[in-house]
Amino acid sequence: MLKLGGNIDPLTQAGEYGDALFTITADPFLPKSIRNRFALLTEDSLDAPGYGVQLVTNNGGKDDEAPRPNVRIYRLPVHFNYLRPGDIVFIDNKRHFLRTLFRRESRHNSILLTEQCNHYCLMCSQPPKKTDDSYLLRRTSELIKMIPTDTRSIGFTGGEPTLYGEALIELIRQAKLQLPNTSIGLLTNGRRFGNKDFAARFAEVDHPDCMLGIPIYSDDPVRHDYVVQARGAFDETMRGILNLKRYGQKVEIRIVIHKQTINRIVNTCEFICRNLLFVDHVALMGLEITGFTRPNLDLLWIDPYEYRDALSEAMHVLNSYGMNASVYNHQLCVVNRDVERNYRKSISDWKNEYLEKCAPCTRKGECGGFFSSSKMYKHSAYITPFV
Ligand code: SF4
Repeated sequence: MLKLGGNIDPLTQAGEYGDALFTITADPFLPKSIRNRFALLTEDSLDAPGYGVQLVTNNGGKDDEAPRPNVRIYRLPVHFNYLRPGDIVFIDNKRHFLRTLFRRESRHNSILLTEQCNHYCLMCSQPPKKTDDSYLLRRTSELIKMIPTDTRSIGFTGGEPTLYGEALIELIRQAKLQLPNTSIGLLTNGRRFGNKDFAARFAEVDHPDCMLGIPIYSDDPVRHDYVVQARGAFDETMRGILNLKRYGQKVEIRIVIHKQTINRIVNTCEFICRNLLFVDHVALMGLEITGFTRPNLDLLWIDPYEYRDALSEAMHVLNSYGMNASVYNHQLCVVNRDVERNYRKSISDWKNEYLEKCAPCTRKGECGGFFSSSKMYKHSAYITPFV
């Protein structure tokens, strides 16, 4: 698992304190006029003034670095060795902290907009906080200006991004203008779009490729509200989806499969096909063992091998109706062969791993593997390499 955030070791204390975003470069000869926007990545510190910071990868730790009074230099711990030119990092110079926000070579750049939420889902991977974190939205606005325009896709997540209201709409508008070739995946519980005016204003942005990923955990409103721990959520989410489609927005329905959703998974897929056949995609997703899932594991865990027939039946329903549907976050050896046409390798690269016993598997290249957290805490007892 890649560590995206962590402390960095200051070798000099030059310059003003503060925080900023920098694009990584390995080029010590950039024009002086633009150097302050870059973090120079080198093995050892160089006499190359003007860069926002220098990041030294000599993890061996030479403590006899010649002092360079006008350059801010940090030594990177080994877990940041994945950083490459073109990546974008946030550096908090006061706390000596680095967070990787964008990796040039990754297809899984997911940007956290807020940790605030009006749900309290049993399996929330990003447990909600009440503190004002609107700096995340401002930082994302700065980030969008720096992301290369040939980037294929980025994701916006929370928390619940729509709690920003109009400011979120502005962010999507900015993304459309400054990243016109980049598709957006926005994860939301959809409730805010139950307000028709809000849905209409969102649609007015007319982003050419923005998909809203919205969860429906059951066809039974009471069960859905229980899973998200919010009364009335099902009705608002349904209204939100209807409004979004009324205004021509792309919607993906996401169902996380666990002990509280598996019993009605087939009914839920039938409900979606009968009532929401116009959505653009349905994803049936495996459980990530992180956040609230860990303390709620007894309430949530069911071995994917044990629900493989229900997954097949649910997929059969979706396919029968011609729904565009996928199975995410599962291992190939615990699903039935009939769902393979819908099977996707979906786990973000920075948290995707395999077991040691996977090494001889002849289908490892097709298999989506595990969340790092599943590998560490809980995974199917039926993992069997193909031979
Ligand atoms: S053995 Fe490992 S690599 Fe092979 S299908 Fe199962 S989980 Fe995937």
